[in-house]
Amino acid sequence: MYQFNYSDLFTPEELLVYLRKSRSDDPTLSVEEVLEKHEAMLDEWCERHLGGVVPEENKYREVVSGETIDDRPEIQKVLKKIESPRYKGVLVVEVSRLSRGDLEDAGRLIKLFRYTHTYVITPQKTYDIRDEYDRDMIERELKRGNEYLEYTKKIMNNGRLLSVSQGNYIGSVPPYGFDKTWVQEGRRKCPTLKENKEQADVVRMIFDMYVNKDMGRTSICYALDDMGIKPPKGEFWSPAALKDMLENVHYIGKVKWNWRKTVTIVEDGEIRKTNPKSKVGEYLIYDGKHEGIVSEELFNAAQAKQGRNHRAKANTKVRNPLAGLLFCRCGRGMSLRFYKNKDGSEKAPPRVLCNEQARCHTGSCLYDEMIDRIVAILEQCIEDFELRIKNDEGDSIKLHARLIKNLEKKMKDLQAQELSQWEAQSHPDPAQRMPAEIFKQLNAKLLKEKEEVQQALCKAYESMPDPVDYEEKLLKFKDALSALRDPAVDAQRKNRLLKACIERIDYSREKPERIKSQQVRYYDKELKKTRYKSTLNTGGNWTSPPVELDVKLKV
Ligand SMILES: [Zn+2]
Repeated sequence: MYQFNYSDLFTPEELLVYLRKSRSDDPTLSVEEVLEKHEAMLDEWCERHLGGVVPEENKYREVVSGETIDDRPEIQKVLKKIESPRYKGVLVVEVSRLSRGDLEDAGRLIKLFRYTHTYVITPQKTYDIRDEYDRDMIERELKRGNEYLEYTKKIMNNGRLLSVSQGNYIGSVPPYGFDKTWVQEGRRKCPTLKENKEQADVVRMIFDMYVNKDMGRTSICYALDDMGIKPPKGEFWSPAALKDMLENVHYIGKVKWNWRKTVTIVEDGEIRKTNPKSKVGEYLIYDGKHEGIVSEELFNAAQAKQGRNHRAKANTKVRNPLAGLLFCRCGRGMSLRFYKNKDGSEKAPPRVLCNEQARCHTGSCLYDEMIDRIVAILEQCIEDFELRIKNDEGDSIKLHARLIKNLEKKMKDLQAQELSQWEAQSHPDPAQRMPAEIFKQLNAKLLKEKEEVQQALCKAYESMPDPVDYEEKLLKFKDALSALRDPAVDAQRKNRLLKACIERIDYSREKPERIKSQQVRYYDKELKKTRYKSTLNTGGNWTSPPVELDVKLKV
């Protein structure tokens, strides 16, 4: 672990200050006021760390506000100057002041800083771009631009990120391998980590087994369990816990801040918010105040190996066509399990079993048997739909709709007739006026008719059958069926098509039991002796309880 002693690295004369107002600054202040405020901040930092301020001729103030580097004359001057070895660093209030998140500009800046060995200095952190972590961080910050800025501002305010950025460990539970401790810095007590010798040895052993002995995570777990080493949580070591450990940057003396708390992802056309574990690249990583317990070389080798293993699995997304559909009677999901020999050939046919079979003891079943059952159900549904279509159940809806339409038209006619009768009865010319007696009769007849039509309409509305489009259902079920039968169709597609037809499948099966061989006594005539024989071969005979499925269809 290294700590900057700034005055060893550069003098104020070797620095350039770049000032620019951005959208995130107080909009009520003028450009000049903002830049003045920032300049004072940077001067104060220089005084404190370098014992002097950057000379006026090294300060650049961007007064025009352009989107790209090409639109900003002052940054161009800065970039020109750092080509000279006389200048060792650029001082800014935040990294994002250098660029607005334009990808091309970010790339250009990083290259330039890297090949001219220029430090980027902010009051929070100094970035040495030759260092890989720093480079990653600055790249992310430049690309993130304003979004990142808003985010940091928000959390900097509550001081937690600031504390992390200064190298403190602010978590409540120390990572396995460390204990929590405090160091005195001036008048402040800072929380940090110190090695827990016993646990740290285990951590080093894990990295050694993973990288140098090329063991997989599962075999490391077994090895640790066999050695009687207690895991940080639970009774046994888990591959998932090991994965986290192998990625934990605290082991190389860094501290981290989880930049993404929730992530919006789009899956199957649906937007979902998830709260995933951050990947290494999604942390902000700072130098910690603590000593690492694993060498960076070993740590990086472990990252490279994890990355490799991860990619190898990337194109097997959904392996189980029944994923998310099939549930055990204990309520848990069920998975598809393959049994393979070391050379990759099939050891036994795949089975579906409860995710917690060890606890619920529900019997598993052959995957092929399960698929046969589902195929049979789909076939039966298809037959049913075809029958309904043949019997014109779809047409009955059309007939019904036509009936309603006719009744509605009749009602309209009657209303028009009623109106004209009233008009005739109240004609301004008495000679043409309809006699009151006749009107009375006609109107009574009309009201009665209206009443009848109204009642018929009510009945028709009430008895309107559910509009089930059997033709459409038939197509969906046929698609699912043919996909399920076709081994060339991938599991993910099968899964999607099945989900269009089936809501959920509940599974139940008793645990198979070994059939005990029975000893039968018999008399051997040749030997003239009583003998015993087994009715069954000892070994491979098990009961085969029926598979019970409760299928909820989308019909
Ligand atoms: Zn179960």
